[in-house]
Amino acid sequence: MDVIDSAGEMRALVERRRRGGRRQVLVPTMGALHAGHIQLVREGLRHGDDLTVSIFVNPAQFAPGEDFARYPRVLDDDIHRLEEVGHDITVFAPTDREMYPGGMDTHVTWVTVEDLDRNLCGRHRPGHFRGVTTIVARLFNICRPHAAVFGLKDAQQFVILKRMVGDLNFGIDIVGFPTVREEDGLAFSSRNVFLDNEERAQAVVLSKAVRTAERLLMEGEQRPEALVESMRSALAEAPLARLQYAEVVDAETLQPIDRFQSGELVLAAVAAYLGETRLIDSVFVRVPPAIES
Ligand code: AMP
Repeated sequence: MDVIDSAGEMRALVERRRRGGRRQVLVPTMGALHAGHIQLVREGLRHGDDLTVSIFVNPAQFAPGEDFARYPRVLDDDIHRLEEVGHDITVFAPTDREMYPGGMDTHVTWVTVEDLDRNLCGRHRPGHFRGVTTIVARLFNICRPHAAVFGLKDAQQFVILKRMVGDLNFGIDIVGFPTVREEDGLAFSSRNVFLDNEERAQAVVLSKAVRTAERLLMEGEQRPEALVESMRSALAEAPLARLQYAEVVDAETLQPIDRFQSGELVLAAVAAYLGETRLIDSVFVRVPPAIES
């Protein structure tokens, strides 16, 4: 397995491969790889000839006071997990110095997608999506993929990145992969390792909340606020969960919805703290045709 930490070396490698007519695929991650990441990697293998997994805990997407310092960094374990996939995968794992040579304070070039970060996580994590779009744009320029795979678990991130790629003509196919879950429904997350036993047991309420919202909508509920209320009630079942938001928004604009239109794709999403650990979950649902009463 090639493990590359230099942006120049990475770029030279993919340019050679591209000249050979080989289709390049990128799966960007922050490491601490779990079963969800591995499924993204397997999906990526279906979309091209060479697969690169980037591993970089990007300081620019953590707001002050968030968990940048304690975010798990386990590169050796990650490499091992990727070796187990059994394909020739390239790992691009740059250092902070490689990506931000002068440190974060001297970085002045940013990619911002306006308005789509007004709600959901964007409202609570100032600067987060600016950090994400900027690092992903850089990873695209370094790794030059034809396709890149992202998890729908980070639904707002997915919508924003797809918009960035369209608006700026990156010419990269953005593939979304459904959320991979543990047996009880909890979405895999690198942050789940921070949960103690009780928090872990109660964390299942996030997935219950979004599933309840999905069911209500499929059963013909017409009022977005009823879905929001159902998600709030589901979260309230867990004494250790502190709700940050429960929202239902248009899946493209990420703006709140007054009334559902049949055929419209909507996103129901929640974020909550279990102890110190912030978790998110969401579901995309297409509004069914109105049920005649
Ligand atoms: P992260 O390392 O958390 O930045 O995630 C890297 C990529 O994996 C992102 O595209 C995430 O959306 C995706 N991802 C993380 N957890 C899951 C999951 N449980 N199911 C599907 N994709 C995931």
